[in-house]
Amino acid sequence: MIESKLPHVGTTIFTAIGKLAKTHNAVNLSQGFPNFNADPKLLGLVQEAISEGYNQYAPMQGVYALREVISEKIEKLYGHYYHPESEITITASATQGIFTAISAFISPNDEVIVFKPAYDCYEPAIELCGGIAVAIQLLGKDFQIDWESFKSAINEKTKAVIINTPHNPTGTILSKQDMLRLQAILKDTDIILISDEVYEHLVFDGNTHESAAKFKDLASRSILCASFGKTFHVTGWKMGYCAAPKELMVEFRKVHQYVVFCANHPMQQGIAHYLKNPDHYLSLGQFYQQKRDYFLNALEGSRFKISPCSGTYFQILDYSAITHESDLSFAQRLIKEHKIASIPISVFNLNNQDNKQLRFCFAKTEETLDRAATILCKIR
Ligand code: GLN
Repeated sequence: MIESKLPHVGTTIFTAIGKLAKTHNAVNLSQGFPNFNADPKLLGLVQEAISEGYNQYAPMQGVYALREVISEKIEKLYGHYYHPESEITITASATQGIFTAISAFISPNDEVIVFKPAYDCYEPAIELCGGIAVAIQLLGKDFQIDWESFKSAINEKTKAVIINTPHNPTGTILSKQDMLRLQAILKDTDIILISDEVYEHLVFDGNTHESAAKFKDLASRSILCASFGKTFHVTGWKMGYCAAPKELMVEFRKVHQYVVFCANHPMQQGIAHYLKNPDHYLSLGQFYQQKRDYFLNALEGSRFKISPCSGTYFQILDYSAITHESDLSFAQRLIKEHKIASIPISVFNLNNQDNKQLRFCFAKTEETLDRAATILCKIR
């Protein structure tokens, strides 16, 4: 008899829904990935790196030139300097970075505060370390953090907090006030902040991304987790990085070196060149805002209730005017009967609370968004 370390964990919703979408040949707006290709320039740079022979291990911490350009980028955007030698590590995806950060710092019975709905990789990683995920539900239709509940959840066992801005699955963002509040509450504690910022460049309507790196005291206790997959339309490359003060990064690397040793070498070479041009990430917000607006315009007249997202490439649609069925069964029925796939939000909520909301990924071509919207508008 095998005793499971994660008895309550099944297969991630992204795999389950993705498979169903494929079986039924549905328009797939479920798992978050672009259905268009990356910039040929980036693809060419990686192909060149392969041809030039960058096919053996990269340095454990990552290619130095890439860490250097990341350091410059963070300093320029968020005003905080991370030393490329000791404070930045290239990871095989943000998911690996987050897993490694949790593994490096969480011991049995340590508490980690997470906000629900939460992306689904945090809690299993905490549990594998014997830690306890302390979940706080985000409030209301705009998923606000209740800072008073947060404050009262903190005790001597609290080891870390995980935040995610822009937020998956809700598409909301944390404001400067939120970050200042967080900073004030954490001040004079030893609590580590794991800051999942993989959608940092996907922020809309003139808002700015409030990175933990912008706030001095937060930066001093934070591990920033970032993703090249989201920024450069290459989710399948599984490339990301973490930035943290040296004392934290030393511990992070102790784990990183035995989880993957290093991330993919030719891709690091290619990205190091590509990242030198800031246009390649600064134009992303506008690019995705246009897609969001295209999708929402096409949904005009549908029975879904819509509150436009502020970031990420996910839009939540509220279907409470259409049916009372659970979001999971409605999502499955939409795939089977209407050939459109989305992600039910309840799986990320505290106690799987069902607020009749589905998440749709709009990182798609206009043709796909048109097809999706045509289907969704017919659902009465
Ligand atoms: N981040 C992606 C999403 O939210 C999923 C990635 C994955 O399936 N691991 O859709």
